[in-house]
Amino acid sequence: MKILKFGGKSLANGKGIQTAIQIIKNKATQQENIAVVLSARGNATDELLEMLGKASRKESYHEQLSAFKAYQGQIDRSLDFAEEFTILENLFQGVSLLGDYSEKIKDQVVSQGEIISAKLVTNLLKKEGVNAHFTDTRILIKTDDAFGNARPLDVISRKNIINHFKSHNGNTVNIVTGFIGSNQHNETTTFGRNGSNYTAALLANFLDAEELQNYTHVDGIFTANPELVSDAKKIEALSFNEANELANFGANILHAKTIVPLIEKNIPLRILNTFNSADNGTIITQKTTTKGIKSISVLDNVALVNLEGRGLLGKIGVDARIFKTLGENGINVSIISQGSSERGIGVVINADEASKAIVALEREFENDFYTKDVNKISVMDDVAVISIVGQDLSEFHKPYTALIKNQIVPILFNNTVSGKNVSLVVKKSQLHKAANVIHGQVFGISKKINIAVFGKGLVGGTLLDQIIKSKQDILDKNNIKLNVFAVADSKHVYLDKDGIANDWKSGFEYEKTAYTLQQIIDYAKANHLENLIAVDTTASKEFVHNYINLVNNGFDLVSANKVANTVAYSFYEELRIQLKKHQKNYLYETNVGAGLPLIDTIKLLHKSGEKIKKIRGVFSGSLSYLFNTFSVEEIPFSTVLQQAAAKGYTEPDAREDLSGNDVARKLLILARELDLKHELSDITIQNLLPAHLQSIRLEQFIKNITDLDQTYKLIKANQQKNHVLRYVGDLSTETGTLEVKLISVPENCALGQIKGSDSIFEIYTEAYAEQPLVIQGAGAGAAVTARGVFGDILRLTEKL
Ligand code: ASP
Ligand code: MG
Repeated sequence: MKILKFGGKSLANGKGIQTAIQIIKNKATQQENIAVVLSARGNATDELLEMLGKASRKESYHEQLSAFKAYQGQIDRSLDFAEEFTILENLFQGVSLLGDYSEKIKDQVVSQGEIISAKLVTNLLKKEGVNAHFTDTRILIKTDDAFGNARPLDVISRKNIINHFKSHNGNTVNIVTGFIGSNQHNETTTFGRNGSNYTAALLANFLDAEELQNYTHVDGIFTANPELVSDAKKIEALSFNEANELANFGANILHAKTIVPLIEKNIPLRILNTFNSADNGTIITQKTTTKGIKSISVLDNVALVNLEGRGLLGKIGVDARIFKTLGENGINVSIISQGSSERGIGVVINADEASKAIVALEREFENDFYTKDVNKISVMDDVAVISIVGQDLSEFHKPYTALIKNQIVPILFNNTVSGKNVSLVVKKSQLHKAANVIHGQVFGISKKINIAVFGKGLVGGTLLDQIIKSKQDILDKNNIKLNVFAVADSKHVYLDKDGIANDWKSGFEYEKTAYTLQQIIDYAKANHLENLIAVDTTASKEFVHNYINLVNNGFDLVSANKVANTVAYSFYEELRIQLKKHQKNYLYETNVGAGLPLIDTIKLLHKSGEKIKKIRGVFSGSLSYLFNTFSVEEIPFSTVLQQAAAKGYTEPDAREDLSGNDVARKLLILARELDLKHELSDITIQNLLPAHLQSIRLEQFIKNITDLDQTYKLIKANQQKNHVLRYVGDLSTETGTLEVKLISVPENCALGQIKGSDSIFEIYTEAYAEQPLVIQGAGAGAAVTARGVFGDILRLTEKL
């Protein structure tokens, strides 16, 4: 025999009840030996409790009762529930007069939900030609007197059920009320909320069923609640022990007590979805899966009560008094945590019992307040508990670190000694994000990185195209999901929490809205986006003022923008203090030499204690082209300059390159990398422009560009033989000088040999004293810069 159990949602009007009837009918037609246990339909139990509450407060419940009757009567007009409805009317009226009710009355009220449900389903099945039989468990299952949370009397209930099924067997399908029973005075009792599952388990036990099939509205047991964690995966099979761990921590399909009757007889429990018959659900059996199951469950209606006081130190019996007090008030403690210093004791309880707990504890510890042994009893009711079931403590640092990186600091955590079970208390507002972060970490499910790109010009645009192109590959190879949720220019932003469209340009045009940075930060918060990275591909002087705010709000930073590293040292320092404080990273490899791995190399050398003596090189792509070409070709300097401009190698106003400022900024960034606290003004810069060309308007400059020719013709002619001109940045830690200048070098040395618009960096250290470490290659251009930014993003994802 198989026991089927249908929950309230599976029996709701419409698709639910229709499907449930079909499922039962199909099995009956195929001669399967089944019995069916039912919950109340839809939200019947909640509604009945609500009406009861209203009645006891002498509020009107009549409208709701009419709606209740209409709903329950709607499916099958040939049935009338006059008996049940009259009982309800009388009870409500009585309660309304008294202004109060007992647990006993409550059980009488809520039991009507199950009775109506089983009567209806029986009748519908009969109409379909199934030999269904309404089975009222108030007659069969006898319990103690604990109304609202009754316990079955095993021997007699077992006997009754077995006898009943003896007389109603063969092709009869018993349709059984879940949740309810009666005491020895035949007064109705219930097993507590979700008690139909328990009824089904009892029946399975009494009748030695081969399987209990629990029809729900979900596909089975998941690694986390799919409504909370979209990456949650269904668990195909798990053991009762594992299920028990889940049940203890809020997986609401399973009550721990439900599992006991099944374990006793080794009866498998299958969780199925009424609305998805194709899925074969989750099966729970005695067998332990070898790997051990992992799951995340959540309790979100809890409060944390804290007792603090110096007198708690080493005082015997405090814990006992807390538990005794709470116990006497019927308050269940789900977690307890205590520092080894015993200055504070925290207990997690149901949120709606928090005030009761405080009152009771304050009374209990009144004397201790006077003696100052206890100085504070406080409650936090905006908390939630996340439990990682199956979490080995030796690996716990991983989810923990991931939480901290995402600015979620658990309020307390606690583990069970045997169960491989770690529970964390977090702020309720952080629950969603925390559950996702932990889940991703625990299950090695692709790590989602949420990126906001500021600046959608040449570099930003190229970067977005590169991300879109490589996204799938990175997911396949590295298990990292790059999700660009924001693209912004200086005025507008295009937001999509699920990732921007591949055609992000039209996406931007159609979806853009004006923004403030705070709105983007709020958007990320509201959508619980984790692992945040802000990418600055602007050249904006203003945007860097947002960096600290971004860091404070959980973003790591990647920047191609040199400004933040070259404004006053005080800002440079402050930014790093904030980064450290919030454990955030700031990567800017492209600030010098575009995508070349320069900054990273210097950082590494410096960190490892290798003394860097000198860095020298051609840092600017445009100036590289200019002098590489001019040195070997017999053409005027102005002609080369025009060629460079035509090829897009220079800034729109080439004087920005020629002034030497750009090279100086890069040199400053390298210097600061070596902990040299310099300002831009400390650098000696050779401006390649004569004074009279420096501050005139651009058109004027272009007109007078040939003014440059004579000077550079002379400089070139005055060199030694086989020498070429190079515009270099030069930093010496030994003399403490920082210079940006035009020099003449032998054409066969490393500097002399570079071509095109390449950059070159020579790093002299103790180890590389004679022959420098040389890094050389394309040091400018949108494609390589974007590639470098992308590299920084990927480097960050490894740290997240
Ligand atoms: N109808 C009861 C409840 O909602 C019992 C059950 O559904 O299992 O709690
Ligand atoms: Mg239910």
